[in-house]
Amino acid sequence: MIIDLRSDTVTRPTPGMMQAIMNAEVGDDVYKEDPTTNKLEQKLTDMFGMDSALFFPSGSMANQAAIKMHTQPGEQLIADKWAHVFNYEGGGVSFNSGVSCKLIDGNRGMVTAAQVEENINPPDFYHSPLTSLVCLENTTNKGGGACYDFSEIEKIRQVCDKHELGFHLDGARIWNALEAQKQNPRDYGKVFDTISVCLSKGLGTPMGSVLLGKNEIMKKAMRVRKVLGGGMRQIGFMTAAGIYALDNHRNRLAEDHKKASEISEMLAKQSYVKKVESTETNIVIFYLAEAISEEKFMNDLLQKSVKISSMGQGKLRIVTHFDYTDAMHEKLLQMLSDYNK
Ligand SMILES: *Cc1c(COP(=O)(O)O)cnc(C)c1O
Repeated sequence: MIIDLRSDTVTRPTPGMMQAIMNAEVGDDVYKEDPTTNKLEQKLTDMFGMDSALFFPSGSMANQAAIKMHTQPGEQLIADKWAHVFNYEGGGVSFNSGVSCKLIDGNRGMVTAAQVEENINPPDFYHSPLTSLVCLENTTNKGGGACYDFSEIEKIRQVCDKHELGFHLDGARIWNALEAQKQNPRDYGKVFDTISVCLSKGLGTPMGSVLLGKNEIMKKAMRVRKVLGGGMRQIGFMTAAGIYALDNHRNRLAEDHKKASEISEMLAKQSYVKKVESTETNIVIFYLAEAISEEKFMNDLLQKSVKISSMGQGKLRIVTHFDYTDAMHEKLLQMLSDYNK
């Protein structure tokens, strides 16, 4: 039994999901004739109260498309220094859109409205890049699944309005934030111009993200997706998994959060652990005491069939998900408690 806690993307489709995939009604999505994909896009449009939605093969492609739709080459976007769009999308911001990033030294991957405002280049000062977009992430990945305070998001919206900036949410982990904070997706639909949501992280589909947005900007989405190589045919087989996941897997995220918080509490009690970040959702980030190297710790766990990941700068990461069973959880808690004794 391998306990894989490197990411919540390691899940495999459940029998119910496989059935939904097998039974999917499909057509050619390049002609917008895939009924299942149209249904998923409509479902998410309604859920978030936005105008339009488009399926993408990955979260990175959905974010990259959004950035391209919001910007012109030479312009600049504002994001936290830990943002996925800057750190983990292969330099796509500059490659795909010719845009630079102004990075904010935020708190656990989150920025404040004041920080955003301070980092906007004056639009009439033609020496500096024109600021045109703000990208937030909720929950934050590198920030350890931290959730924004919604009132701060609303304040950032006001700053974007005042300075005529686009406002994009990298919501790859939005389901976890909605669950942890008991929020309504429609509140997000009201404040953001575009939102990417992921179906393969906490929800467990084999692939896929959806970009949601207002009509005005989403008019460009089909062409940009095509340019990025993302025009697809009978993707109803994948979007059926998405519909199934929204209907059947969203309501169990609380369980992932509970397990993560129990792991977090267990780690906090151990002398070999220096610090555990506060755990709000399904990601636990912790640092080891000086006496133990990350490499040794990870190797010792691996010997016991447990996989976790390192995020650099001394950060170790554990992510819970629906393939992480109660039996695995008990075994892991025991192992963490016995380690080094
Ligand atoms: C995973 C993730 C993405 C991108 O997802 P891929 O599907 O792997 O491209 C984007 N943003 C955040 C915050 C993520 O956690």
